Parts: sequence; structure tokens; C-alpha cells
Amino acid sequence: MGKTLELGRRIELCSMDQHCENISLGLYRREKGDLQQVSVHSYAVGENINGRIEFVTNALAQLAGMVPDVDDLHWLQFECSGFHVRALKRCFLDVCKLEQGRPLPVKPLSVQDKKAGCLVSVVQHGSGVYEVTSAASDDRAIKRCEALAKGFAKVCEMQVDENKKNQIAFTCGCNHDDLMGMLMFRAQNVRAAMREEEMSATRGVLAAPSQQK
Ligand SMILES: [Zn+2]
Repeated sequence: MGKTLELGRRIELCSMDQHCENISLGLYRREKGDLQQVSVHSYAVGENINGRIEFVTNALAQLAGMVPDVDDLHWLQFECSGFHVRALKRCFLDVCKLEQGRPLPVKPLSVQDKKAGCLVSVVQHGSGVYEVTSAASDDRAIKRCEALAKGFAKVCEMQVDENKKNQIAFTCGCNHDDLMGMLMFRAQNVRAAMREEEMSATRGVLAAPSQQK
């Protein structure tokens, strides 16, 4: 019981980690003053478990742009002091798909986009504002940039600029280049991302902590 309280509430579950003995890994949230922090934990026992938790924690910190708590390195928080829960949950599930020990992927802010038919980029304008731009300027590319902005709005819970539909902003007013790079692929494939999110939520309900390995 004490352990459960220390861990806070589980907000996401990777029910089967294929890179570590199919264990389940949970992402837990706690409040520290005004701050919201998260920690990766597994109830599984085994010699590889701690190493895996450390890898996932470090990867999440780097790829989602988080920093450890000064008193307890197992807890991570966003530098903006805000909490981007949906983006974070998505990053966690994607990080759990990374093979142990491999170098972390580089997530550029410019990618080739099939539907736009050209290179699309996320340009940071400061204060958490981002614009999705395309190398081509035809209708198809412009529409696609707007769709991508909408995708980011969903995946990262950002606000779309009403007057400029290819522009989105984090409500915390801070930049999150790492999150944008990490979730570019998800914004491009937002339907699949939402489907996976729903499936994960269902699994989370089915697998209570006591039933996990
Ligand atoms: Zn923020």
C-alpha cells in the first residue's frame, strides 16, 4: 500500500514491453507542490527490470524534453512547470517501443510528407507558438499543413490560431521542440494515434495493478 501511495496514480500503461520480457510498464503521476511529475515503474521482478526502467526514464526525459526532480531522479517534470499529459502519454508509449541500449532516435522538425508531396517543417516562433510550413506552396501542401497543425492540436493538446490555421501554440507559453519532433509522426497519422490511444486506455482499465506481472 505504501508503495502505491508513493507512486501516485497510474496515467498510462505499456501492457507488454517486447524489449524486456513482456513486462508491463506503468507511467505514474504525482503532485509536488504546484508541479506534476511522472515516474516509470513496473511491478515485475527480474534482473533486467531496473535497467529497462532506467532506459525508458532517460529516453522519456530526452525525447519529451523533461528534467528530473532535484531530490529524486526517478521523477520527471517539464521545464515549463506545466503538464502536457496527452503528449506525454503518447511519448511514453512510443519510448517503450525503443530497443534497450540502442542510440535514441533523432526527431527532426522537418520531414518528407507524402500527402503534402514535399518537405514539411514545424517552425518555432517563440513563447510556445509553432507554424507548420511546406516547401511547396500549392493548395494541397497548404491544406496538409493545416491538417498537420490540427493533428498537433489533438496529440499535444495545443491551440490552433483561428486566423492562421497552420499555427498552433502550447497554452503554457513555453517552447517544446522535443515534444514537437517526437510527435511529428503522430500528428501526421493522427487517426492511427487516436485509435492506439483508445486501445491503450481500454487495456489500462482491464489490467489493474494487482493483476499485473
Ligand atoms: Zn509547457
